[in-house]
Amino acid sequence: MNPFNYIDNHLTVDGVSVSEIATAVGTPVYIYSKAFFQARLVEFETAFADIPHLLCYSVKTCANLSLLKLSAENGFGADIVSGGELFKAIKAGLSPCRIVFSGVGKTASEMAEALRADILMFNVESAEELETLAQVAGNLNLRAKVALRVNPDVDPQTHPYIATGLKASKFGISHDEAITLYKQAAANPHLKVIGIDCHIGSQLTSVTPFVAAAEKLRDLAIELQSAGLNLRYLDMGGGLGIRYNNEIIPAVSEYAAVLKPLLKSLPGLTLILEPGRRIAGPSGALLVKVLYNKRNGSKNFVVTDGAMNDLIRPSLYGSYHRILPVLRTGASKNVVDVVGPVCESGDFLARERLLPAVKAGDLLAVLEAGAYGYSMSSNYNARLRAAEVLVENGFFRVIKSRESYEDLTRGEYI
Ligand SMILES: *Cc1c(COP(=O)(O)O)cnc(C)c1O
Repeated sequence: MNPFNYIDNHLTVDGVSVSEIATAVGTPVYIYSKAFFQARLVEFETAFADIPHLLCYSVKTCANLSLLKLSAENGFGADIVSGGELFKAIKAGLSPCRIVFSGVGKTASEMAEALRADILMFNVESAEELETLAQVAGNLNLRAKVALRVNPDVDPQTHPYIATGLKASKFGISHDEAITLYKQAAANPHLKVIGIDCHIGSQLTSVTPFVAAAEKLRDLAIELQSAGLNLRYLDMGGGLGIRYNNEIIPAVSEYAAVLKPLLKSLPGLTLILEPGRRIAGPSGALLVKVLYNKRNGSKNFVVTDGAMNDLIRPSLYGSYHRILPVLRTGASKNVVDVVGPVCESGDFLARERLLPAVKAGDLLAVLEAGAYGYSMSSNYNARLRAAEVLVENGFFRVIKSRESYEDLTRGEYI
């Protein structure tokens, strides 16, 4: 399932020639399929249509305004983790009453911004954060709607950097502390307890950990309800994985099928989910151009104009991204490292990869790069951040310009 396909040996996205995009916009460039992104939104909406639900697109996954707007148009709310994401979500037209605010380090000013915007709910991660939130709300004479992010201590069996629901991670609150904090929150006039939340990790390839976490949250919710708390939302976070290489991933319908029965024992609660990667990941690719071939000792390198500052996932997590030549030639294949110009040996897009021989000027598409691609990009080595392009109805348009040298020095003083 992928919007990037060959037609007559030329890579296309929804019928549009990828090399035409490169000619018009240059490289490196992120390319997203609007139709594919939208189909993923609809897939989630459809799977949960028969129960009370709110789907909050995880803004940090890929935060281009055009994609945020598309999410809003398809009934999605947003899961934000900073004041900057709140600003972008509102600017894109997302309704604050469908925004949840996650993260372990919300500042007082970010809290104030979100309170003034009247977002749906704060997912609170610690006793001190709860105290600060109550103070900020009190100063503004407002009442903060809160859920506590519970750490269900389940192993999501994913990369340690993106496993968040284990006892030893910085995220969430333990079961016992949650009970104490819920009682404190319920007694505070500046807080209104409305939900219970968790997010156990990202790129999960099995539904089993979601079920284990949901069962723990359900039991805690029942305990809290019998203690007199009026919970309205059960937020199960995001995390559903995608296929990068040869992973077998659950269908969204399967994910829905295991979560929905758990809600039956919690009548009156609305399920919130915060999907990100599953929607944006396969919708986008990073297009790069080959600069040089080189050989050091026994190793072959393909040097491209795309680097770790454009797509850090391979360097940061050792992630695998499929790489396709934009022109399929039938050339003989070699094992190569695909690397960028950045001055780090950790700068690579792929290692030990069997790829058809390429020459300077050839284009390569790094697939499944829509999630945590552009949003994690940086200006390291004073490299300009790439352009972003959206393919829509047989056409393409730039949805973020490539940065300029002026952008590089904006705000700097001598
Ligand atoms: C990152 C994140 C998500 C999105 O995770 P995906 O794996 O991209 O679906 C959702 N909720 C929270 C709290 C997150 O930190």
